[in-house]
Parts: sequence; structure tokens; C-alpha cells
Amino acid sequence: MLDGCTPPREHLAEAYRANGYWRGENLSALLRSWARRSADRTALVHGATRLTYRELDARVDRLAAGFRAHGLGPGDRVVVQLPNAPEFPAVCFALFRLGAVPVFSLTAHRAAELGHLLRVSQAAAYVLPAGHRGFDHLALGLRLRDEVPSLRTLFVLGGVPAGTAAVPLDRVDAEPVELPEPDPSEVAFFLLSGGTTALPKLIPRTHDDYAYQTRTAAEVNGLTERDVYLAALPVEFNFTWGCPGVIGTLGAGGTVVLADSPAPDDCFRLVEEEGVTFTSLVPTVAQLWLEAAEWSPHDLRTLRTVQIGGAPLAPELAARVGPGLGVRLQQVFGMAEGLLSFTRADDPEEAVLTTQGRPISPGDEVRIVGEDGAEVPPGATGELHTRGPYTLAGYYRAEEHNRTAFTADGFYRTGDLARMTAEGRLVIEGRIKDVIVRGGDKVSAGEVEGHLLEHPAVARAAVVGMPDEWLGERICAFVVPDGEPPTLAGLKQALQLRGLADYKLPDRLELVDAFPLTGLGKVDKKTLAAGLAAAAHRPLAASAQGGPR
Ligand code: AMP
Repeated sequence: MLDGCTPPREHLAEAYRANGYWRGENLSALLRSWARRSADRTALVHGATRLTYRELDARVDRLAAGFRAHGLGPGDRVVVQLPNAPEFPAVCFALFRLGAVPVFSLTAHRAAELGHLLRVSQAAAYVLPAGHRGFDHLALGLRLRDEVPSLRTLFVLGGVPAGTAAVPLDRVDAEPVELPEPDPSEVAFFLLSGGTTALPKLIPRTHDDYAYQTRTAAEVNGLTERDVYLAALPVEFNFTWGCPGVIGTLGAGGTVVLADSPAPDDCFRLVEEEGVTFTSLVPTVAQLWLEAAEWSPHDLRTLRTVQIGGAPLAPELAARVGPGLGVRLQQVFGMAEGLLSFTRADDPEEAVLTTQGRPISPGDEVRIVGEDGAEVPPGATGELHTRGPYTLAGYYRAEEHNRTAFTADGFYRTGDLARMTAEGRLVIEGRIKDVIVRGGDKVSAGEVEGHLLEHPAVARAAVVGMPDEWLGERICAFVVPDGEPPTLAGLKQALQLRGLADYKLPDRLELVDAFPLTGLGKVDKKTLAAGLAAAAHRPLAASAQGGPR
């Protein structure tokens, strides 16, 4: 296995193979077999572009040969940062075919995240848009190429000015060549963890495990070639890419429609025009869709299932989804690390509205564990631990972190608090990991704190989530100033200059003289968060003067 990855335990790997979960298939060969099966059916739609399975597979062949001609080969890591466009799946499958390993980056990532991903993965290449949503990715890419020693080539989607040392993606094209088949037990690509530590961790996903995850998620949902999946959220999210998402839909012979944004205007038009049957949303976007559906002229009747996950879904919002959109709601609890739990079509309504369903595989092992490390009594709340055929065995190049992130018998400590109903359904009750879920975006408190501490006016920093009706949570930075107190605008600008993605910037600043401490002498974030919640309920005049400072 790729250096820096933790191989699965031998006895588990044997069981996963014996049970038919891992079939020894690689994702490149799977695409080839899907292209044989569904040759002339539409695989991908984006704007005016429509690609059949045959065309997609042929494009992947030529791209793979083109990447090879540009010096990429098996085992090379390639950071892929692309918007929702056919190039995203085409590039990823081409890299799979070549045995190279994509590292998924969000389009919102900036210098701080990209620099880290490129360095940690020792990427040989970086695939990026020339620009996206007003940001000049190419300029940043050229700078990073000078800074990161391993990085040799930039492949760019969109216009590249003459004389720029970067390769336009549409010129990555060569006669297909015979390539060795990738090893199914090898890492196919890296997803990113929402992260509890200062920097995002890389999650290795193997061909075997992801083929199994996407196939199973598609089977649980009864996907067929008549299904049309709308990739409304960013395609690089595990939720959109493979739960069952893009890959599961292609595996079932259906059609994937790529939306430029999850905004209801765009998406409702696509649902009507393309006959979309299912999609996946985070709760914040679902709320937008519900509001828009009241006045939308578009016909959404083909839409059968809307998956909602990635962040807590309030039961009141859950109850509005079916009647408001004329669809079946599926609650999804999932993580890029692996475990997926879905409500099912035949679940009682109460369960669909108030639980996150059951794990999708009989091979998923789940434990709910108390602070003492022992399993809690049935129905009680504790930390969710899991192990299974598509759950990671360790983060990439993170030996020390892995020692605490996993139990001695290889269960992943999710950092989520959950309970199990008598019927075996999971209910997510909160989290103990230091992550803020803003909309559906995961923000590691430690990462933001690290950047804040670099500011000369910040002596100490603690970042906590504050409840927000719209986004679920927003980011509040508590700061003990060093001299002249900083302002929120000043801090945001400083973090932006440090290259931090916009969605991680604090929404609120609270200046304090000191932090409350726990009995163990750690910053007591619970007390800080409780102070915020209390302030939110005080009349405006009082909270403007009072509050934690
Ligand atoms: P990611 O790997 O970015 O998909 O984030 C995974 C994390 O998102 C989980 O560990 C949970 O903390 C959170 N999450 C995902 N789905 C749900 C859900 N349905 N309800 C509450 N939290 C969720």
C-alpha cells in the first residue's frame, strides 16, 4: 500500500473479501465495464455538454495518456481542485486509470489549505480552474508551484495566457495507450477530513472500499438506469461523489447532471429539463429549496428522493421536506472517513423524521461508548465508534494522530455523540470533536485558532460554534487581546491574507480578559458557548453592553 497509509487488518480484509464486499475491482475498470454496458446512454450533463458513457470512457483514455505524456505515473499524487464540470470526473477517472492518486480539494480552499495539501501529499501536479467565482486560482497556483518543491505541473481548466508555465487541460490529450491495471486494494484517491486538528487530514480511499460504498449506497436506494442524479452540492464532497452520488449513479447506468451551484433557480430548472429523480443536500440548502418551491414555476414531479445530511436536520425542517418538495426524504449521516447511515424507503415516517437510519452495510460495526471507554447501556448516548469495509484504517501520514483517533482494535473514534434506538437506528445527538459545522462546511476550531494566534494583537484565542437559525452554527472567536484590541474586520482580513478559506473566517469576535478553565486546566469551551447562547437570548441593548467581555 502507498507509503504512509495504514493497511487494513488482515482478518478483516479477508472477511470483507469472503463476504463479497471487496470484489477486487478498480474504479477505472469499472468505468470501462459501465461504458460497455451503457455505451450510448447519457452519463454526464453539464450546461450544453452531454457525454455518453462511451464518450466519457474515451475521454478518460485520452486524458490518461495525456497525463502520462506530461510525466505523471502510478503512485503520483495530484491535487484536484475543480468546480462541478465534466472535467472533474474525467480527470479523476483518468488519474485512476493511470494509477495516479487524486487528492480532493474544495474550490473554496486558498493558499493555507492548498499549500498544506500539496506539501503533505508531496503532489507532483495540481489540477485547477484558471479562475472561479472571482478568484484567480491560476495566480495562486503559479505561486504555489514555486513554493512546493515536489510540484512540477499545473493543469488548468480555462484560459491560460500565452507564455504561462501551465498546461491547459484541453491540451492534455494523447492516443490511448495500454496501461497496467491499478491494484484494487491500493489507494484510489484522498478525501479530506473536516478535521479536529490544526490542519486537514487526508483520508485514503481504496478502489475496493469505494466501489463497495457506492454500489451499496445505490442498492439501498434502488437506483437504476432510469435514475437521473443532480450533483447540486460540490462534486468533491464525499456526499456528492459517492453516497451513492456521481459514482453510484454511473454504476447503476443512470445519468449525472452537474449543477453550477445548489441555488434553487438553477437546480429547479435542471430538475424539470433533465427529469432529475434524486439529489443530495445539506439542511441549509434544503431550507432554501423549500422556500423557493412555494413560488417556483418549475415542475419538480420527477424528483423522487432528496437525501439530506452532513449537518443536523431539525425534525421540523425534516417534516416540511416531503410535502414541500413532493419527494421522499432520506436522512443521511455520513463522513468522508467511511460509515454511512441512511433512513430507508420503507421506514416508518417517525423514523425518517427523527433518526439518521441504519448503516448501509451488514459489515459496518458500530459501538456507542461512554467516557470510560466501555459501551453504554442500550439507548444511552455516547461517542460513536465504527469499523467496516469502507471505513478508513488510518489517516495518511498521521501516525501520531492515528494512535488516538482509533481504538486498539481498529475502531475509528468519530467524535460524534449518538444513541441507538431499540430498532437499531442511529440518532446523532451532538459531537465532542472540536469542529464547527457551518452550513455543511466543517471548520476545525484548532485550525482557525492557530491562524488567530499569529496575529500580533491576539494573546490567546478560542474558537467555538454559536447556534444560528440559518446555518446551524456560525463561528465565534474569543480572543484575549495583546495590547490594542483587534477588530473582527481586522482579524478576518488578516486570516484572509494568511490564505485561509473564506468559510472559516469568524462571524463574531468576543474580547475577554481571560478564558474559563476546566478542572484539567484546558479552555472551557462549553462555558464560552453557553455564555454566547445566553447572550443570544438577552434583549439587544443588554447583550450589546454586556456579554463575555
Ligand atoms: P464530512 O466528513 O465532511 O462529511 O463530515 C462528517 C461529519 O459531519 C460527521 O462526523 C458529523 O459530525 C457531521 N454529520 C454528517 N451527517 C450528519 C447528520 N445527518 N447529522 C448530524 N451531523 C452530521
